[in-house]
Amino acid sequence: MVTISDNLQAVRTRIAQAAAAANRLPHSILLLAVSKTFGAAEIEQAWRAGQRAFGENFVQEGVTKITSLSTLAIEWHFIGPLQSNKTRPVAEHFAWVHSIEREKIARRLNDARSPQLPPLNVLIQVNVSGESTKSGVAPGEEVALAAAIRDMPRLRLRGLMTIPEPNPDPAIQRERFARLRLLLEGLRADHPAADTLSMGMSADLEAAIAEGSTLVRVGTAIFGNR
Ligand SMILES: *Cc1c(COP(=O)(O)O)cnc(C)c1O
Repeated sequence: MVTISDNLQAVRTRIAQAAAAANRLPHSILLLAVSKTFGAAEIEQAWRAGQRAFGENFVQEGVTKITSLSTLAIEWHFIGPLQSNKTRPVAEHFAWVHSIEREKIARRLNDARSPQLPPLNVLIQVNVSGESTKSGVAPGEEVALAAAIRDMPRLRLRGLMTIPEPNPDPAIQRERFARLRLLLEGLRADHPAADTLSMGMSADLEAAIAEGSTLVRVGTAIFGNR
């Protein structure tokens, strides 16, 4: 039987090979294990295999797991859509939020982040493939949102995130990831601490790493089908 530990090893190998092909160091890419719909037992298996950063999409589900696994040194990332009435538990329990697309949500996270905790690391989500159904700001709109976040002392703008429309063609995958990389390069003039490109999932992490991804979000290839 294939275990979570075997799957993790296979994903690490894919990351290392993609990094080598792009002349990049494998350690310049953080692997975020996306554990949505899986339980604390599966997360603990991945943790025992050395995985330390986990991503959750749903607030209540995530907080329940964070609470039950509080003895493990895990860095928790919130990666799903965030409504304004759910900002407080996210600000209290997570270290990162990848899905900022509105100033109002950012401000509520800032207001709810305890002074006892380090600033919340945030990424602006950008919709690089342009479909109306997907979340994220339109390319270009990240500039104004980043400027607003700069005045929020409990948030730390760390970069950009995208979830492109699935496409089997690696050339098209790369084109979208390249778009996000160029947007981050533009942003860095005014926001030098923005060092993170959150892009690439189970099906397209190679294309994302070829275009400079520093954080891949991988669920299925680690935990299996949801
Ligand atoms: C579910 C999810 C992932 C992981 O997707 P897989 O295809 O299972 O690797 C990554 N990012 C976000 C935002 C997700 O919701």
